Amino acid sequence: MVVEVQDGKKGLWRRIVWAIHHNSRAWSDIPAKISVPGPWKNIVNIRLNMDNVDVDLNRVVSTEITNGLTTEFWLDNWASSGPLYKLFPNLFKLEIEKECSVADRLVMGSCGMSFNWRWSRPDFNFSEQTELQQLENDLEATNLTSGCDKRSWKYDNAGEFRVSSFKKFISMHNRIRPSRVFEWNNWVPKKVAIVAWRAVMERLPTKCALSNRNIVIQDRFCSLCGNYEETSDHIFVACHFAQVIWQYIADWCKIPPIIVFDIKDLLELHGLGPGSRKKKKVIHAIVLVVIWCIWKIRNDSVFGQAIPNTTKVLDEVRSMAYLWIKNRSREAELTWENWCRFNLFG
Ligand SMILES: [Zn+2]
Repeated sequence: MVVEVQDGKKGLWRRIVWAIHHNSRAWSDIPAKISVPGPWKNIVNIRLNMDNVDVDLNRVVSTEITNGLTTEFWLDNWASSGPLYKLFPNLFKLEIEKECSVADRLVMGSCGMSFNWRWSRPDFNFSEQTELQQLENDLEATNLTSGCDKRSWKYDNAGEFRVSSFKKFISMHNRIRPSRVFEWNNWVPKKVAIVAWRAVMERLPTKCALSNRNIVIQDRFCSLCGNYEETSDHIFVACHFAQVIWQYIADWCKIPPIIVFDIKDLLELHGLGPGSRKKKKVIHAIVLVVIWCIWKIRNDSVFGQAIPNTTKVLDEVRSMAYLWIKNRSREAELTWENWCRFNLFG
């Protein structure tokens, strides 16, 4: 169904949302007051998730102008590059009637289209003058005719919004971003890789994750260093405790110093640089074991009052990874001495 704009604008729910959330000092095409919790705020937050998959509402929903009566000149997305209040902020400040329609500002006469501006003052400074020239140039070719303005959805040939067309678009989008696909490794147990998988998806119950889900916690500080907020990226990447461990791992595995910005970088580390496929798989397995061991010591310190100790974690990484990799890769020849010197597979 292509929505006639009028229906959406006059709807009771729209008027209620507007009355509660609109802020006349900070205009927005989709208003939402952060201080007002509730379903509307949750709905508006979906916009951020949509941004993550490169879906910009201002670009995927557009308005086709016919008579311009039901489309708001400044706030609706009917011009080619987005709502005009965003593109021409200085002019928007001078507009007397912010919610005016396209037909209020563009008038069709016998000699073609003309502008019917209503500014709060007659004198323009340089930037306002420049914006006005640009705006008039952009709108020169606009033509109003008879008929109702229509909204259309970009990802459907008929312009109709369907959940299925949106779902199809998102799944295509995910397919062209292989870096988002988690790489499993059968040389370590599933439970080990699952910690890394949950970490990269921000699904580990770190203090910040719990607090974001409104679970009461004592504080948000890292259980390992006590200095910064405890997020997955902090515990496994930025925390000083983790950095000491990664430094040792790089020395042991004879790879360049590990400089990463997030967990995803850690999980892609093995793909960089030279080395056989087997060696890369070992490094990938070690990274997964390190993440698992750091999470384990973090839990031990939260629930069992253990004191985090990098040497202990490194010993555990070395021995657990040896056991798992030797057995699961069927490299019976791999001795503990060679493993400790990282002389692998002959
Ligand atoms: Zn920390």
